[in-house]
Amino acid sequence: MTTLKQKWAAASSSTSLKATSHAAADTASYRKAKNRLPGLAVPKSTTPTTKPPLTFPGQLAQSTVRGYATQKQATAYIHGDKLYDIDKVRHDFPILNRLINGKPLAYLDSAATAQKPAEVIDELTRFYNEYNANVHRGVYKISEEATAAYEEARAKIARLINAKSPNEIIFVRGTTEAINLVAQSWGRANVGLGDGIILTEMEHHSNIVPWQLLAKERGAHLKYVGLTDDGHLVHEDFRQHLESGGIKLVTLTHVSNVLGTINPVREYIREAHKQGCRVLVDAAQSVPHMPVDVQDMDCDFLAFSGHKMCGPTGIGVLYAKKAILEEMPPYHGGGEMIREVHLYESTWRDPPYRFEAGTTNIAGAIGLGKAIDYLSEIGLRNIQAHDQELTEYMHEMLGKVKGVKIYGPANPRTKAGVISFSLGDVHAHDMASLLDEDGIAVRSGHHCAQPLMDRLGVSSTTRASVYIYNTEDEIDRLVESVERAGRVFKI
Ligand code: PMP
Repeated sequence: MTTLKQKWAAASSSTSLKATSHAAADTASYRKAKNRLPGLAVPKSTTPTTKPPLTFPGQLAQSTVRGYATQKQATAYIHGDKLYDIDKVRHDFPILNRLINGKPLAYLDSAATAQKPAEVIDELTRFYNEYNANVHRGVYKISEEATAAYEEARAKIARLINAKSPNEIIFVRGTTEAINLVAQSWGRANVGLGDGIILTEMEHHSNIVPWQLLAKERGAHLKYVGLTDDGHLVHEDFRQHLESGGIKLVTLTHVSNVLGTINPVREYIREAHKQGCRVLVDAAQSVPHMPVDVQDMDCDFLAFSGHKMCGPTGIGVLYAKKAILEEMPPYHGGGEMIREVHLYESTWRDPPYRFEAGTTNIAGAIGLGKAIDYLSEIGLRNIQAHDQELTEYMHEMLGKVKGVKIYGPANPRTKAGVISFSLGDVHAHDMASLLDEDGIAVRSGHHCAQPLMDRLGVSSTTRASVYIYNTEDEIDRLVESVERAGRVFKI
């Protein structure tokens, strides 16, 4: 196979000119977008934003650590007109300076949460240092600045997923809250006795439990699309459930957080719409990793989390089509979501504000806006290509280790960024602890997908997941460490 190193090497010689012109073009479009916001200006930084990275006990000099992680590779990578400088990307993440058990941190758990670049961390600090105020309330300068930055973050999200309008973007705490919002607001109003909801056996608990709660309350039925032995959805199950009638909603994940399977959501949405059903897409594992276009996909709802895409925790997004949002009753009651309040009744604001009761996570939204700037600068197509190549490399190299079983699709091209595996009968927690000794962070357990574990016939797996800052060298370290586990556990 052509390795990433070779591709980087081939690309690196011709990148700098393109990088310069791209950066200039991007700055121009960013300014243009900012100028579209009526009347309010986002505050300019008055303090330097780049601070020295935090230091930790036992930390090596930065260059030594980075030398370890990058010495075997060239530094640039291009898709289309976007420059991907892996060395620069790694320098942007202060946490990658950490040593774990004397070794550089190899963070292979981005499916759980992604690391944060200094730009995002600095923007949070700048918000609190310079323009912390509540939004949509004050008529004073810093409140107007906070409001502008908050609403600009909403507009950035709309552009990222190609929503028709920022008013289709609701700030929530994360994917989990987005799905609960749909279940409790749209679901209670639209799902009744005997109705059906289609899910799949590869859903995260956050796309199962809210529907169980709703189904119990409304007397509705849940119907599951099963999985083939290599981790794809059984299309025939889906068709049969749809044709059984009474289906109100199809809710499915775009990318499995355990198997990495990329589901053909566009096709499923087309078929569901023909039967008059709404479709919710859990995009927690896709929006951070690939271009997602809600108009092209034509989903009715889309949910994702900021923390998996370099943004802060506690902020996420529910996208829904405007016409659907307008029909939906509020989810939470409180300040800011009302038009008028009287003693015995109230009226609501239009979406998205109807669904953002109380003081929301203002800093989180602004931080997420910055994370989107950061990812857009690299380019979502670039990110997808990088993740894809690392996934393929990891699949190939791990697959060669004696005793390793990889779950999910045998063809890594149908997987995005995630590989679940086991080694003989070694418990996943033992594996993860052993990898930690080598400075490698992976997830072990059921990954909040117990029905999927049942389908696979296991109680847990070890999961390695990659993102923008990971390198082929880190995959090599993972493979060496898994081989070491094989020797330790005599597999
Ligand atoms: N769905 C999927 C596919 C996920 O991977 C996750 C996070 N592991 C969630 C939903 C829940 O996301 P959050 O915890 O950010 O609400």
